[in-house]
Amino acid sequence: MTFHVITIFPDIFISYLNESIIGRAIKNKLVSINFYNPRDFIKAPKNNYRPVDDKPYGGGPGMVMRAEPLLKAIEKAISKIRGKKIKIILFSPSGKKFETAYAKQAVKKYTDIILISGRYEGIDARVQKIFKAEEISIGDYVLTGGELPAMVLIDSISRQIPGVLGKYESLEEERVSSSEVYTRPEVLEYKGKKYKVPKVLLSGNHKKIEEWKQKK
Ligand code: SAH
Repeated sequence: MTFHVITIFPDIFISYLNESIIGRAIKNKLVSINFYNPRDFIKAPKNNYRPVDDKPYGGGPGMVMRAEPLLKAIEKAISKIRGKKIKIILFSPSGKKFETAYAKQAVKKYTDIILISGRYEGIDARVQKIFKAEEISIGDYVLTGGELPAMVLIDSISRQIPGVLGKYESLEEERVSSSEVYTRPEVLEYKGKKYKVPKVLLSGNHKKIEEWKQKK
C-alpha cells in the first residue's frame, strides 16, 4: 500500500510514522508514504508571489487553501502512481465517519491512497469536485488541520495489511481482546494499598479467561 499525502506540513508526520509498528512496516516495504507539498507548486517569480491560502469569497474569518497549488500537488502524486486502484480522500470534519470497516475495505480495494490534508478554514471546494475525492471525518470535533486525520488513516489501514502486525500484536478486531489488561507484578502496592491482578487471568483456564475478556 502506498500513501500519497498532500500537506503543507510534511514534517509533522516524520517522527510518528518512523517509530514502532508503522516504522517497521515501512522498512519492510509493506507500506510506503510519499509527501507532496502544495507550497512546492507555487510559482513565485519576482513580484508575483501568491501564498498557499487566500481570503474566502463571501467573507468570513480565516483563510481558504487555494485550489491551484493543491491541484498541482495531486497531479504530481497521480503521475507517480503505477498501480490502478487509486482512492482519493479529502479530510473534512463534515465528511463520512472513518471506521475499522473502511480500513479493511481499503486494504482489499486499493494499491494507492491519496490523502489531502486541509488547514485553515479548509480547501477550495473545487478541488473535491474536480477529483471526486471522498470526504472523510475522523470524528465529531474540529482539528486545526488534516495531518492528524491522515496519520489516523495511515495507522489504522496499515495494521490491516497482512504482515504488518507481529504475532504478539495480531489484530484485536479478530480475537477476543479486553480493554482491561495487566502485566507484572501480580500484586501492585501503591500508597499502602494492594492492587491485585484478577484471579481468573492467573488460572491458566483458557476458556474462563476468554469468557472474562468477552465480559470486559
Ligand atoms: N471550517 C471547516 C473546518 C476546517 S478545519 C468546517 O467548518 O468544516 C481545517 C482542516 O482540518 C479541514 O480542512 C480538515 O482537513 C481538517 N480537519 C479538522 N477536523 C477534522 C476531522 N474531525 N476529521 C477530518 N479532518 C478534519
